[in-house]
Amino acid sequence: MNGLGGWFRQLTAKLSAALRTFMVGRYGTDRLNMVILSVGLVASLLSVIFKFAPVNLALFILSYGMMFWAIFRTLSRKTYKRYQENRKFLQFMGRIKDREHRYFDCPKCRQMVRVPRGKGKISITCPRCREKFVKKT
Ligand SMILES: [Zn+2]
Repeated sequence: MNGLGGWFRQLTAKLSAALRTFMVGRYGTDRLNMVILSVGLVASLLSVIFKFAPVNLALFILSYGMMFWAIFRTLSRKTYKRYQENRKFLQFMGRIKDREHRYFDCPKCRQMVRVPRGKGKISITCPRCREKFVKKT
């Protein structure tokens, strides 16, 4: 019994070491990947329900596309690029959730500027390049 348990422990240790070696320099997973996988999963569940061929095919392609995309990101060696994607995604989600403010990109330097909502037309000064632009909030 002990021999088998020890053998099994050794095997798991070896496997996890091999996985660690394989993942060295690779990106791994993040919030964006979780969302991509969830969308893929929902699409594959919906494809079971919707039997109408064009819809079914579209859902099928979407679900596989999402899964491959998530795998690609997990195994990617361009960790900085993946990190930036995730950061932008989280920023985007933050913008959607934020009901108190509106977000604009400076027309000159693309700096993101946050202003309070519901103030009508206001003149905004970019904090980075001092460019002035008028927006409705
Ligand atoms: Zn600017």
